[in-house]
Amino acid sequence: MKDTIAAFKKHLSKLGAYEHAMSKLYNDSVTVMPPKGSEVVGNAMGVLSEEEYKLATSSELRDMIETILAHKDEVDLITLREAEEKHEELCKLEKIPMDEYVQHQIDVNAASAAWHEAKATNDFELFRPHLEKMVAFNRKMAHYYAPDKPAYDTLLNEYEKGLTMETLDKFFADVRKKVVPLLNDIVARGRRIDTDFLDKEYPVDKQRILTDRLMKIMCMDPQRSCIGETEHPYTINFTKNDVRIMTHYHSDMLLSSFYSVVHEAGHATYELNIGDELTDSFLGSGVSMGVHESQSRLYENIIGRSEEFMSVVYDDLKELFPEQLKDVTREQLFLAANKVEPSLIRTEADELTYPLHIMVRYELEKQLISGTLEVKDLPKAWNEMMKEYLGVDVPSDTEGVLQDSHWSGGMFGYFPSYAIGSAYGAQMIAAMKQDFDVMEQVKSGELQPIIDWLTERIYRFGCIKKPKELVENACKAEFDPKYYTDYLSEKFTKIYQL
Ligand SMILES: [Zn+2]
Repeated sequence: MKDTIAAFKKHLSKLGAYEHAMSKLYNDSVTVMPPKGSEVVGNAMGVLSEEEYKLATSSELRDMIETILAHKDEVDLITLREAEEKHEELCKLEKIPMDEYVQHQIDVNAASAAWHEAKATNDFELFRPHLEKMVAFNRKMAHYYAPDKPAYDTLLNEYEKGLTMETLDKFFADVRKKVVPLLNDIVARGRRIDTDFLDKEYPVDKQRILTDRLMKIMCMDPQRSCIGETEHPYTINFTKNDVRIMTHYHSDMLLSSFYSVVHEAGHATYELNIGDELTDSFLGSGVSMGVHESQSRLYENIIGRSEEFMSVVYDDLKELFPEQLKDVTREQLFLAANKVEPSLIRTEADELTYPLHIMVRYELEKQLISGTLEVKDLPKAWNEMMKEYLGVDVPSDTEGVLQDSHWSGGMFGYFPSYAIGSAYGAQMIAAMKQDFDVMEQVKSGELQPIIDWLTERIYRFGCIKKPKELVENACKAEFDPKYYTDYLSEKFTKIYQL
């Protein structure tokens, strides 16, 4: 057994090295690489992913996993969980023919480059053939994995184990029932909130200083994390000792990068606080997209858009932007950060209309994957649904169907995790409030006790526990979207004085 475990760990470490190299290439390609570098990276990705595929599906690995799983009581928990996860992955990977798998990696790279150009030039036609390939691959992959299951359920499971259309249909029906009337009320008779001061000129170099201060407030360890810039903000982690945040600055939008940073720092906080014993294991990473988004959105919205957090950053903002924020009070800033307005762009959407943006993507993805909607008809369907749910007219595909990077990365079934994550986060904060005065803590500017509470119940476990178990562990109850819809109703009824 000792030899098997040693060989298994060596194999995993080799596999991890390929994954590490590929994610660094990816990160480079969407941050600093000049556009023409794309082709050579695509080829390198093809070679590396072929090697990775061979390692991940090798008969030696299968033998080692089977030996370990047959002697469960002789192995430690980390090794056992590694074997279980790799077994599941291997069984799935084996079902995809290698040439199709490798081709997909190359296609993703090309799709990503095409999407960047299509978005920049408002040219959906340029992206369309790439998107068709992404949809086709996802449908095929779902069929390979589970031919008898609805394809979209299989895809959802890739990002949040156990999540189904049945759960989501109910969840979104609940959101629709509570959010849409509240939104209509706000539009019809809510107080007017002034946000004009947010659109003044906010020099990017000053915004970078603000980012550094936010990273401090969020307790980000500068020895293990850093910040860069890209088109579409994200967080990428290689180990708990190398976590990177990417943001995007708009000189005429004060709060855009501000909340991107708080959001991404939420993701990063999760990664930075995973247990040390998992540092060298692939289990040393966030467990699922839903749980990950619960953290980013909890920091961004419940904490970051609170009156208490605003009082922490107010002096810094006034110091960095004295002219732009002259005469702007703390209260005005708080209200501006929570202004509700049906709009076009998901990442700029307010907290209340945000789940409606997700609902649009969810409904369209279901149709694309089931085949009831063709890619060529997607822009039209997008525009119609935005009108139906949010009441907005979409003036261009750049501000419509081309706005997000997910589909160009071949990710279908990812978006719902944003909404379900918000709901997890609301329930977690409700549970945290049973233990201490969370908002008083935020007001003090000392977020460490909040991070500690979440580390104890969620972060430290990495992928050792499953998403459902972690959420129940933190909330001491089953997942219930009621906490989320109650939180939204209470917060926005008060803000809008309804
Ligand atoms: Zn996120």
